[in-house]
Amino acid sequence: MKLYEPKTIRYIKDKYGFRFSKNLGQNFLTDKNIIDKIVDGAEIESEDTVLEIGPGIGVITCEAAGKAGKVIAVEIDKALIPVLEETLGEFNNVKIINGDILKLDVNSLLDEEKAENVKIMGNLPYYITTPIIMKLLEEGVRARSITIMMQKEVADRIKALPGSKSYGALSVAVQYYCTVKKIADVPRSVFVPQPNVDSTVLRLDIRSEKAAEAEDEELFFSCVRAGFGQRRKTLLNSLQTVKGVNREVAEESLKDAGIDAARRAETLSLEEFAQISNQIRRRL
Ligand code: SAM
Repeated sequence: MKLYEPKTIRYIKDKYGFRFSKNLGQNFLTDKNIIDKIVDGAEIESEDTVLEIGPGIGVITCEAAGKAGKVIAVEIDKALIPVLEETLGEFNNVKIINGDILKLDVNSLLDEEKAENVKIMGNLPYYITTPIIMKLLEEGVRARSITIMMQKEVADRIKALPGSKSYGALSVAVQYYCTVKKIADVPRSVFVPQPNVDSTVLRLDIRSEKAAEAEDEELFFSCVRAGFGQRRKTLLNSLQTVKGVNREVAEESLKDAGIDAARRAETLSLEEFAQISNQIRRRL
């Protein structure tokens, strides 16, 4: 039985009475080429531990298990646990956990499992892609990379560079922690059931050093949010929505950072945001 074939999904529906949950973003992959691209894109080595988010019926899991030392698969849907126990039964290096990745203390789990060289993977439900990525990055997840499939538009925002229309707070946040590589575009036609969006697979390689030297990360992200919260306004105006920043502080900080007060957030590099927030910090 080939897991990725639509007839396997039919078999599982009949045998386990499984029903797709729209609420859990269940769109299962049925294309071996795409599965291979994701797994190859993650560059898994035999000494790696893969943490997979949302294995579904295990199509990515079984390919990863053939390459990694160990795979830990976290699936929220209780109904899929007996299915995964059957579909992944032949592997003795796979641990299936019934849980919600958003509620799990991921680093504690990785410690408990003595996971080394951690690579995170997943074909994520579209509506929680950003919360999952930000949770992992903000918590400082002990991983080398995160290879994930997401809605194409979200991927466009994550990888956007200054000056482009998609560049925004999400681009800055992810690029602050990671370098971003596009692995593949994926058409909606390869999923069952078919979603109404196309997808992209990105690999986020977690940086050993952050991309910019922000002395106060919280203030740095406040400046980023303020800038993009009012994209059409000049920095002189938008920065005044940061707590404690008045016109004078904004003006002087921009001047000392060497940045024209009439520029807009969408033109700023990460390093320029850091310089501005460092100057503001000195004045608060
Ligand atoms: N990996 C499978 C594939 O590619 O065919 C399934 C992908 S499907 C888009 C997303 C999977 O994530 C579903 O199996 C769903 O039940 C699971 N899921 C949804 N929310 C989750 C959460 N918060 N934590 C863990 N798994 C979740």
